[in-house]
Amino acid sequence: DSFDAMGLQENLLRGIYAYGFEKPSAIQQRGIVPFCKGLDVIQQAQSGTGKTATFCSGVLQQLDYGLVQCQALVLAPTRELAQQIEKVMRALGDYLGVRVHACVGGTIVREDQRILQSGVHVVVGTPGRVFDMLRRKSLYPDYIRMFVLDEADEMLSRGFKDQIYDIFQLLPPKIQVGVFSATMPPEALEITRKFMSKPVRILV
Ligand code: AMP
Repeated sequence: DSFDAMGLQENLLRGIYAYGFEKPSAIQQRGIVPFCKGLDVIQQAQSGTGKTATFCSGVLQQLDYGLVQCQALVLAPTRELAQQIEKVMRALGDYLGVRVHACVGGTIVREDQRILQSGVHVVVGTPGRVFDMLRRKSLYPDYIRMFVLDEADEMLSRGFKDQIYDIFQLLPPKIQVGVFSATMPPEALEITRKFMSKPVRILV
């Protein structure tokens, strides 16, 4: 199995190979294609298995690059993880001209607002700052078609449940959802039931 066989855009493949990936990991082999088809995907996998590139590839494949509006929102439990995802998204999407911004706490709100207003395709962030940007109408939700929760169990154990639900309420009703989590506690299962329709389940 190879990245070549996944039907990905040429410029996405170039980004993947330039990043140094030669062959897809097990989780990537099973997760990228369903995500690219627009299906809801639950991947239960530990970090270190290559989940970041799974959802980054799925998002990058489906963006409309001619529309400079936020079309994908990725939530992560920590600033560091959000910024790491931002870097991977930007690197894999380098040849596609993707515009990504990380919205995390501890940074200047007005700087976030300025970057969002200048136009991005993807926002990666922690729930608190992302909700703040939505509430201030600095992040416009109407074009968002993809919603990814990375380390969902970790976000829930850090007390982000209400904020995740508040954010979900503000997103368009028909939205593709990806949930990535090492474990599936009851609150994570509840999210998959409430946010997803007929999800593909991948256990690695
Ligand atoms: P992740 O689970 O997304 O945090 O990825 C764990 C590590 O594996 C990161 O350092 C990635 O750069 C690396 N990685 C992910 N996918 C691949 C791949 N297909 N080939 C080589 N390394 C990879």
